[in-house]
Amino acid sequence: MRIQLELRQGHFYDFKPGWFRIRPPTKTFSELKGLVTHFGLHTVCQEAHCPNMAECWSGGTATFMVLGDTCTRGCKFCAVKTGNPKGVVNAEEPSLLAQCVKAMNLLGKERISYVVITSVDRDDLPDQGAGHFASCVREVKNANRDIRVEVLTPDFRGNPDCVRTVVDAFPDVFGHNLETVRRLQGKVRDPRAGYEQSLSVLAAAKEINPNLLTKSSMMLGLGETEEETIEAMKDLRHAGVDMLMLGQYLRPSAFHVPVAEYMPPEKFNKLKLAGESLGFRYVAAGPFVRSSYRAGELFVKNILRK
Ligand code: SF4
Repeated sequence: MRIQLELRQGHFYDFKPGWFRIRPPTKTFSELKGLVTHFGLHTVCQEAHCPNMAECWSGGTATFMVLGDTCTRGCKFCAVKTGNPKGVVNAEEPSLLAQCVKAMNLLGKERISYVVITSVDRDDLPDQGAGHFASCVREVKNANRDIRVEVLTPDFRGNPDCVRTVVDAFPDVFGHNLETVRRLQGKVRDPRAGYEQSLSVLAAAKEINPNLLTKSSMMLGLGETEEETIEAMKDLRHAGVDMLMLGQYLRPSAFHVPVAEYMPPEKFNKLKLAGESLGFRYVAAGPFVRSSYRAGELFVKNILRK
């Protein structure tokens, strides 16, 4: 589908096809959001302007972004602020995160049973934030007994020791995004990121703990062909990846890489079937799917109950 561009009052607006219907936020969602602000935490949902916020949170999945809101990278598809945090890290964050999750569940409405912890890239830190990431996992798990934690990590420049630091904190799912197909990496991602590097991070996590479930995600509609997408899916399977998320790239602003195509739902369904035939334990594919889209529900439905 070709896109039409409309600029108004500095807001960037992309005409989107009919299948893009955003769900309105619930009251509980606003209460949860209030708690996040109260504890001085960030969510990738808010930073990346994710359209699924209300749905995910109301479904018991909350996604937190740790290590601040400023990334040392500058990927051309991402709305997260980039810059140099100069080594600053909030040492209280792991315990604040644990308390926030606990408080969310004390609200007594929809239970937060699944927490996704992601972060900006911190090339300014000696361990690129791996130690802090691991502390966040441990604190959340220690303070919230039956909670499941998924991590969505940076590439740590492919350093297996950093990967081991996070894996040894025993998350339930280890995620790292390939983002796009091999040919488009340079066009879409920060030059410090890379296809083989991201695959090596996922393979390292599986090697360190073969029982650990691994997950990756790709945005579609950036100009890739179906063959290239399937090739990338095969490479992810080869790296031992269990779960795959395929979603539509949405352009955050006129300064970000343009949308090449709005993929219709039927194309996503075709790729979902291709992914299942390649052996992924589950593939979530659709215009609204994001890395941690309804992560908790999909985990329970496709991993625990199968
Ligand atoms: S590394 Fe992640 S947070 Fe940073 S700019 Fe790239 S996608 Fe955004």
